[in-house]
Amino acid sequence: MTAGLAQASMSDQPAPRGRHLVDPFGREIEYLRVSVTDRCDFRCVYCMSEHMTFLPKRDLLSLEELDRLCAAFVRRGVKKLRITGGEPLVRKNIMWLFGALGRHLESGDLKELTLTTNGSQLEKYAGDLKAAGVERINVSIDTIDPDKFKAITRWGNLATVLRGLDAADKAGIKIKINTVALKGVNEDEIPDLVRFAHGRGADLTLIETMPLGDIGEDRTAQYLPLSIVRARLMDHFTMQESPYRTGGPARYVRVEETGGRLGFITPLTHNFCESCNRVRLTCTGTLFMCLGQNDAADLRAPLRASTDETLLDAAITEAIARKPKGHDFVIDRGTKTPSLARHMSVTGG
Ligand code: SAM
Repeated sequence: MTAGLAQASMSDQPAPRGRHLVDPFGREIEYLRVSVTDRCDFRCVYCMSEHMTFLPKRDLLSLEELDRLCAAFVRRGVKKLRITGGEPLVRKNIMWLFGALGRHLESGDLKELTLTTNGSQLEKYAGDLKAAGVERINVSIDTIDPDKFKAITRWGNLATVLRGLDAADKAGIKIKINTVALKGVNEDEIPDLVRFAHGRGADLTLIETMPLGDIGEDRTAQYLPLSIVRARLMDHFTMQESPYRTGGPARYVRVEETGGRLGFITPLTHNFCESCNRVRLTCTGTLFMCLGQNDAADLRAPLRASTDETLLDAAITEAIARKPKGHDFVIDRGTKTPSLARHMSVTGG
């Protein structure tokens, strides 16, 4: 492990400005999301089928290799790293990676190291995350009804996640709750989720279901446009448009009654690609330049081919030159098949 760190730090020199990653549409790539495992301890109905086949462990990049890849992006101007999955906190020894990545915060090259989690392991890890420099996290919670929570996640337990939120609060980590709006499942509960999140001092972001991966059921049954959710929320709350941005695709309002922030991520009703500043790395070293397209670049081969960073750097440059303008997700009653065969747990949500 120490060897991995030493090797990575030798090549940690920031790139001159001209080496920054700019795609063919002039968008500067400053945000890397890294899926560190495709495995998860939940089986959310809209995300995975109950019986998933996961990657053999031997196909995964080691944590040292993931660290080296992240360093390569930081050198090229990436300012924000989000660790995701699968469930990132179930990957063995994951705190080593957070600890290692923390050096880019200390050097000032990285502005933010963050995480998207289902919260199941937060009680255990919140203190270590904070110590590594994680200041904000996203926790995915689709319901605060314990029975419904079990039904949606299949394997999850709400009480454990709530203890995780308390642990994150105690550690001084700012929480944003992400909720996927699901027709007939949590649509009546959304005002309560707003009050719950804001009551804890957390932001809440609502997300539309995206047609990613075969989940063994019909997605059109789950799709709930946020335009409808937002219109219904106006019966409960006064919402003021907010200029607040986190560097992501959410658009925010301030809810007057709670004083909290509410975000909307609308990949289907509103195409948010123009300002896309991100790429996604899988745990096997595949770089997806767009969540909603199949084109990808293999970074594992250049990573393993040499300890010198030249090949890897060239592969990253070539990949960014192929970043597409945007996605075109469709949830179509006619086809029923997902727009993309790969699951969100592969690319990282
Ligand atoms: N396990 C972590 C978690 O639960 O947050 C990180 C990975 S999970 C794939 C990331 C986010 O993607 C979660 O908020 C999840 O609800 C969301 N997600 C998964 N499949 C989705 C889909 N088809 N459409 C929209 N969001 C999805």
